[in-house]
Amino acid sequence: MAASLDSTETSLWSILNNLNCGIVTMLLKDSRHPLMQWANDGFYKLTGSSPTAVMDNSLIGDPSHVIHPDDFPWVYTALTDHIKSKEPLDIVYRVLHKSGSVIWLHVTSSVIGEKDGSPLVINIMEDVTAQIELQHKMQWERERFKAISALSNEILFEYRVDEDTIFHIGGNFEEVLGPHRAVIRNYRNFIREESFVCPEDVATVEAIISDLDDQLKAAPQPSAAADQSSVSCPLDNSWAQQIGKRSAEFRLKMANGEYQWYRALYSSKTDFNGRNVVIGKLLNIHETRLQISRLKERSSTDSLTSLLNRGAAEEAVRLRLKDHSVGWILFLIDIDEFKVINDTYGHLRGDEAIKALAACLRQNCRQEDIVARIGGDEFLIMMQGTFSPELTRQSAYSFWERLQESLTQLGLGFSLTISAGAALTSQHGSVYALLFDSADEALYISKRCGRNCLTFAR
Ligand code: GH3
Ligand code: MG
Repeated sequence: MAASLDSTETSLWSILNNLNCGIVTMLLKDSRHPLMQWANDGFYKLTGSSPTAVMDNSLIGDPSHVIHPDDFPWVYTALTDHIKSKEPLDIVYRVLHKSGSVIWLHVTSSVIGEKDGSPLVINIMEDVTAQIELQHKMQWERERFKAISALSNEILFEYRVDEDTIFHIGGNFEEVLGPHRAVIRNYRNFIREESFVCPEDVATVEAIISDLDDQLKAAPQPSAAADQSSVSCPLDNSWAQQIGKRSAEFRLKMANGEYQWYRALYSSKTDFNGRNVVIGKLLNIHETRLQISRLKERSSTDSLTSLLNRGAAEEAVRLRLKDHSVGWILFLIDIDEFKVINDTYGHLRGDEAIKALAACLRQNCRQEDIVARIGGDEFLIMMQGTFSPELTRQSAYSFWERLQESLTQLGLGFSLTISAGAALTSQHGSVYALLFDSADEALYISKRCGRNCLTFAR
């Protein structure tokens, strides 16, 4: 013990005593009954014992009284092996403090010599209770997080911008995205090369990532002092509160190879190492998107003919009129004496006639032309012309002639004729109402001039 040491060594012992770790030398006659030779004050602090208590008590005779009973069997084995092999030992185990509390010790043990034929061992012990408890707490938090996310049907993700790595977690992500999508490194390359994000939506995702990158560059980098303070509390509520404020929609490849629409709700934060981390969730909105587009289609389509209805036609025409790089021609078409057809053949045959005419108009137009039913027996067609009114009229006439030819082949059992009025943007401008009125006036002239003809607005 320190008290019995030679005075020339006092300063060395005093240094050893003041170290923040426990040091014990033991003579290992056998590993179950080590004989303590010397211990520093650090050792007594760690175990809560005193030199007298150690001498009196069974600590020396039987370390199992100090080592936690759950750890003693394997520590004993390790100690036995250590004596045999004389290899340094580096282990962490629990000991029982005199107060009854459990402390975790990191012990490095080395054979430093021999006395009376038994190995002399030095143990250096460090209290690692706080670290171990933190590890356990973090492990518990991880398990807790996994259990909670397993309850969710949403796919949660974490994207580390600097590492360009995304982690998918959450209830059913394996089934939905495939197990190999759990961790995706080189995400930016991956979304392009593996077509994980639908090629049409890659630009959307890339824009989000470069936006996050820019934010990171703009964010003040943590200073050494700020770093210290944030280590103690790297997370606060602001992160969670931001979730949902930023979102984007794109299609992802499912495990079965099909693309489905997802909405990503996310938020980013710079961590205590200055790394930009994004967390968020992916909601499957595929069915909702399909329903919306079905409803949109229904609300913009005429149910009898499947052509665009009046509202959708106006929207489409207005959009085209914004393109001043080409000339446009607008036709308004109306069936001649349709009331007579209804009265003579009945409304159902009248409906058949409307449907047949609609199909005939569609067939004689190009895919990109607008063909719409804008009233009972009224139709609208918009097609691209040229800046030359003369050339546009010529091509309009050939369209009209083709139409006349097709009308003779409708096979309705009665003849159907139509009248039309046409207006040109090169002549009447690109204001929707003016262009429409000009075509309507021209149609009125066709009706007045005996029907079954095309008139160009003046
Ligand atoms: P005009 O040559 O002057 O155009 O004579 P019109 O008889 O065709 O007169 P108008 O265009 O004003 O009348 C259109 C008629 O179309 C009135 C209406 O009874 C009929 N109609 C409107 N919608 C439908 C429909 O969905 N089905 C049928 N069968 N008839 C319709
Ligand atoms: Mg009519």
